Amino acid sequence: MSREEYIPRTRSRFLKVRCLDCGNEQIIFGGASSVVKCLVCDRILAKPTGGKAEIKTKILGVLE
Ligand SMILES: [Zn+2]
Repeated sequence: MSREEYIPRTRSRFLKVRCLDCGNEQIIFGGASSVVKCLVCDRILAKPTGGKAEIKTKILGVLE
């Protein structure tokens, strides 16, 4: 069993994240090539850096 709380470089996995501002939980793509925003409050949750997404909020889990 592996526990990864913060995954700085995730490629092609889906991540469950929680918005730090409004608490909205959302599934985002770890390899997102464009900025991902919170659907509720528009906070930036992830932005692309060199081919992989940099996650800017709390990661709750990874979906295989
Ligand atoms: Zn939000």
